[in-house]
Amino acid sequence: MAKSKYEYVREFETEDKLLPNVFILVRIDGKGFHKFSAEHDFAKPNDVRALNLMNHAARSVMNELDDIVLGFGESDEYSFLFRKSTDLYQRREAKIVSTVVSLFTSAYVYYWRDYFPDSSRPKYPPVFDGRAVLYPSEVEVRDYFAWRQADTHINNLFNTSFWALVEQGKMSPRAAEVKLSGTDSKQKNSMLFEEFDINYSKIPAIFRKGSILLREQIPKDMDKDAIIPTLPETLPGSMVAKATLFTVIENSSSSLDTPSETTDSENVIAASSSSSSSLQSSAVASVSSAQDTLSVKSTQDTPQEQELDGVTPEDRKRPADDTKEPSSDSKPVFKRMKKGVVIDHIDIIGEKFWTGRGAYIIAPEKKKRMRTIL
Ligand SMILES: [Mg+2]
Repeated sequence: MAKSKYEYVREFETEDKLLPNVFILVRIDGKGFHKFSAEHDFAKPNDVRALNLMNHAARSVMNELDDIVLGFGESDEYSFLFRKSTDLYQRREAKIVSTVVSLFTSAYVYYWRDYFPDSSRPKYPPVFDGRAVLYPSEVEVRDYFAWRQADTHINNLFNTSFWALVEQGKMSPRAAEVKLSGTDSKQKNSMLFEEFDINYSKIPAIFRKGSILLREQIPKDMDKDAIIPTLPETLPGSMVAKATLFTVIENSSSSLDTPSETTDSENVIAASSSSSSSLQSSAVASVSSAQDTLSVKSTQDTPQEQELDGVTPEDRKRPADDTKEPSSDSKPVFKRMKKGVVIDHIDIIGEKFWTGRGAYIIAPEKKKRMRTIL
């Protein structure tokens, strides 16, 4: 095609190619979310609807961009790790970051009503910014995620203590802040327990540990856009949800045909949002209706440490730290599996995750031949 005389302006565009063969990490962060959460009456210290909406938006990003191998979310931020050898947009930084931010933001608005059914859309458009950071080895990658999860813990313990003092203790925000200043986590824990009867370790893991998005096997019939259950805190397919689902199916033969009974406000979203009649929808509803079962389970400890009643053959191939041995009479419910994005709330600080479920994330990749630019 003939070039116009204006073509020269293209020369002003700068090269922004990210270094090859290093991990690309993109973090997005809500702009002005202090105000946004107040305007939309987000519950304090945590609003599970808002967190699940964040998770849904993040899952949309991972469904679209196959080269993202891990996601981690807390509060109004999300981190996405790309595999080392990704060649997405020839590693052009602006293209990569803007695509992640744009997709995340549009999904956040698109799915808003599924989590906030009383309003058709947010009162004003939410804004997220984004940045890319390069990490040369898995050491920094692991430390990065440890850093974010430690941050989740520190913030959540502070916020839980702060709002207990303000809402239950009837303190002014200023007085609560003064009372908490200089306290360590042990002191906050005992204050919560002694003054407010709150056992911090029993608070849902989604609040204490954040949300981790992994690529794992999910039932083949499952719609990848399934609404994420509010509590239980996991997408069907993850370990806790699966365990709960099996329990429900085994205990009630009609559970797949019975609409979920919502017993409290926390599981209304999951139930009301499961609109299709697919197995996935039933799975969500079943998980949702098993609120009580899960509440008991989720208070024990991290999901991967829980006893699982029904384990599929695929599970048996998983790394050892995932599950305990299945009981011999367990029947696999889902036979056909596919790769999907699952959400869990487990420790990513420490060895266990990276040698277990997270091992694929930092596994060495085949060296790709460098692209020759002509
Ligand atoms: Mg922010």
